Amino acid sequence: MNIKVIKGDITRLDVDAIVNAANNTLLGGGGVDGAIHKAAGNELLEECRLLNGCNTGDAKYTKGYRLVAKYIIHTVGPVWQGGNSNEPELLASCYYRSLELAKSLDIKAIAFPNISTGVFGFPKIQAAEIALKTVKQFLQANPFLPIEITFVCFDDENYDLYHQLLG
Ligand code: ADP
Repeated sequence: MNIKVIKGDITRLDVDAIVNAANNTLLGGGGVDGAIHKAAGNELLEECRLLNGCNTGDAKYTKGYRLVAKYIIHTVGPVWQGGNSNEPELLASCYYRSLELAKSLDIKAIAFPNISTGVFGFPKIQAAEIALKTVKQFLQANPFLPIEITFVCFDDENYDLYHQLLG
């Protein structure tokens, strides 16, 4: 299967693109966003300044700079507000738009963090279900696309969840 789950630090992965769980400014933040900016170096922030931010549910890309990954796909997950503010659709859109961007960049290996499940407070079970469902939908819609998708879990709870859901 072209979907994998690992535990670790996404900034260190040897893939064509890593996905950043950014915020609307695209100018860095805490969590995985902060870790990616720190690892990629200051040139990343300079390129991000030129992007004019990003809407929730959408994605934009930059170079990877000091990362092994050639590209960083920055997507903005929804802040959990109780579940009635389109959060599931917006989260699904993050995964789908990131994969569409990856396809247009001819990316063969991409790694996702568990978008919105940190500071943004999205319930982890629901977020994992949405992530897997959306990625599978994308693969079904693009059956001949040679792309390997890795979910990089940072905490045990997410890692266990993804394992269970993937079977
Ligand atoms: P958000 O604001 O979208 O919730 P966070 O960065 O707060 O973003 O959290 C998203 C997920 O990224 C969380 O599950 C968190 O544990 C995880 N995370 C934090 N640092 C890293 C890292 N270096 N590599 C991979 N995942 C990370």
